[in-house]
Amino acid sequence: MVNLEKSKAMFEKAREYLPGGVSSPVRAIKPYPFYTEKASGCRITDIDGNEYIDYCLGYGPNMLGHANPVVKKAISDQLEKGWLYGTPTESEFKLAERIAAAYPGIDMLRFVSTGTEATMSALRAARGYTGKNKFVKIEGGFHGAHDSVLVKAGSGASTLGKPDSLGVPQDFTKHTLQAPYNNIEAMTDLLESSDDIAAVIMEPVMGNVGPVLPQEGYLEEIRKLTKEYDTLLIFDEVITGFRLAMGGAQEYYGVTPDLTTLGKIIGGGMPIGVFGGRKDIIEMIAPSGSVYQAGTFSGHPASVAAGNAVLDVLEKENAHEKLNTMGQNVRSRLSDMVTDKGLDYSVSGIGSMFKIFFGDMPTNYQDVLKCDKEGYFNFFHKMLDQGIFIPPSQFETNFLSLAHTEDDLEATFEAYESCL
Ligand SMILES: *Cc1c(COP(=O)(O)O)cnc(C)c1O
Repeated sequence: MVNLEKSKAMFEKAREYLPGGVSSPVRAIKPYPFYTEKASGCRITDIDGNEYIDYCLGYGPNMLGHANPVVKKAISDQLEKGWLYGTPTESEFKLAERIAAAYPGIDMLRFVSTGTEATMSALRAARGYTGKNKFVKIEGGFHGAHDSVLVKAGSGASTLGKPDSLGVPQDFTKHTLQAPYNNIEAMTDLLESSDDIAAVIMEPVMGNVGPVLPQEGYLEEIRKLTKEYDTLLIFDEVITGFRLAMGGAQEYYGVTPDLTTLGKIIGGGMPIGVFGGRKDIIEMIAPSGSVYQAGTFSGHPASVAAGNAVLDVLEKENAHEKLNTMGQNVRSRLSDMVTDKGLDYSVSGIGSMFKIFFGDMPTNYQDVLKCDKEGYFNFFHKMLDQGIFIPPSQFETNFLSLAHTEDDLEATFEAYESCL
């Protein structure tokens, strides 16, 4: 058993000033989280001195591993020159140019500071452009923590949005419609039901309920439908962007949305968000158009410097080929293990994302809910005891990074072998 004495004491103190002892809810691992001292490569070290191989990786951003030296140098070079100007810079132009070149669905973009801000602004742009009010999201899809997207599954495909959180008036979510993932019929019915739908927003691969993959032809069909019903398609690629391919899921699957949101990886661990898309839509953003959007920290020089460095590393290291192959190997090893042990679990994933579902392979959110969440959480704690940090929830994706070596993976397989 790992000794978490200091973390336990820290948790007791932290609870006095931080709700739940943390700064974001996923970090509140029961009975108390480990508090981190430092991280480097694929390893994260807690304040008791325990070291873990990390598959959480900041919930996705650290695809190059923690404290990547190239990113670190780019940030520190920027720090030498000051780190917040309130004026435009050349480096944000360069990063924008590189992102637009990589994403088929992005001609023009705006930098913001988080993924939450990106989806909030993309939805505003969609509404501003179309003059329509409603939007459709996928049940179980996560797009950050702003009011209109904090709506989970209703009972039926077309129930009007009921907020997930106190403090969100139903008036603010009444324009939020829900459709189950991988269900074209339900989406068609929704789009048929109203001519006031500005956009469909979706994670092309559902990343916030574990990786749940699009069925053959699903994304293509959604693209066709949204065109047919004159509704914009927004791919929320805050997780899949730069993860599945340089050009995200839209490159990987060859389906081009009208608007795209990015975040996480492109900040190299610094705060960032991006929303971009067709020029005729994004040109409507202030100051060139009348859809208002602004931010003190938007295009933050340190985040932008990190972003350019991330792209340098991804290009130079041929990262996606390496990582996607590593992902394939991990999934196949875990699948064999599950089969050998006669467990009725399912190994899911794509690219460098993977996950064992404690149940049948899910195709949508309702399926994921049927998995053994408690069993999974026990498994998480066993893995932590073995020095492996995977996200504590059955609903979160495990990530690989360029910093994971063959030896790290072998140690991880041993832990899986004994903990499963
Ligand atoms: C993490 C995430 C967000 C929110 O990004 P933040 O930077 O945490 O605000 C939005 N959409 C998806 C798909 C995400 O995974």
